[in-house]
Amino acid sequence: MAIRFCAQCGTELTLQFESGRERPVCPKCGYVVYRNPAPVGLVVATQNGKVLLVHRVNPPLAGFWAPPAGHIEIDESIEEGTVRETKEETGFDVTVDQLLGLYSRANVGVTIAVFAGRVIGGTLAFEEKEVDGVQFFAPEELPRQPRPASGTPVDFWFYELIAKLFHDLRQ
Ligand SMILES: [Zn+2]
Repeated sequence: MAIRFCAQCGTELTLQFESGRERPVCPKCGYVVYRNPAPVGLVVATQNGKVLLVHRVNPPLAGFWAPPAGHIEIDESIEEGTVRETKEETGFDVTVDQLLGLYSRANVGVTIAVFAGRVIGGTLAFEEKEVDGVQFFAPEELPRQPRPASGTPVDFWFYELIAKLFHDLRQ
């Protein structure tokens, strides 16, 4: 959905050529609407060789198992945000030890940093509006989830990423 009004002063935006492409610009205060992918942190956290997963309630991939992940806030590093999101989604404290990969694709709106980490404390606790299950899986027990029959480009991209991570973990 296109943004129509200035977030700073409420004036109707106009399309102008700005920094290399046409963008919505406020004719009154000069505010420019940039659309950039948002950073997301995801952690493959293990305890005694088992991987911490959440059963997702929200898109993308609602109804699927995936490692905990979430959007990073302006006042935290991507590592800090990943630790916080994992705590919120699972109740567990994790370390974020190593960057396994950075994943991006045009028009999905996010860039996902995938970390390896360890569970170092906490106890199982979650709010069902974010996830409706939290479980540890041995690599050979990782769920084999069928490709979604329908969905958005983000659903399919995230599905492929999760499937690749699980595949690598089974090796
Ligand atoms: Zn304005």
